Amino acid sequence: MASIFTKIIKGEIPSYKIAENDQCFAFLDINPLAKGHTLVVPKKEIDYLFDVEDELYRLLFTFSKQVAKAIEKVIPCERVGIAVLGLEVPHAHIHLIPINSIYDIEFSRPKLKLSEEEFKDIASGIRQEYEKINQ
Ligand code: 5GP
Repeated sequence: MASIFTKIIKGEIPSYKIAENDQCFAFLDINPLAKGHTLVVPKKEIDYLFDVEDELYRLLFTFSKQVAKAIEKVIPCERVGIAVLGLEVPHAHIHLIPINSIYDIEFSRPKLKLSEEEFKDIASGIRQEYEKINQ
């Protein structure tokens, strides 16, 4: 069965999309640790990040860097932190999280509750920056 992220990539399930290229896709995490918390996934469905073949792995990290540069233009933060867990969704993904302290990337913390309007505004801001940087 297709993973929830494959369904998001195919547009079968809605998401707050940030950007995509031929092989990768980025969208806001629905249970964010911080405003701008983004997931970056390969379109190819592979469960474990370290099973991703080298070329796609490099592309995924290059794309993550481009997305992170856009996030930090929109969300005030010290830097964008990166984390890989994969304990919930068996489709490799990288978390990009704007952080100001170690506490901001603590996954056992309660997640933010954002309105649809807030999600839309954040996604559209980051999307615009991404397009500006990568045009
Ligand atoms: P992990 O697999 O890295 O432990 O966690 C999966 C992440 O995916 C969680 O942060 C969770 O909030 C996010 N997530 C799970 N289902 C969905 C979904 O349907 N849409 C979005 N945007 N994020 C999801």
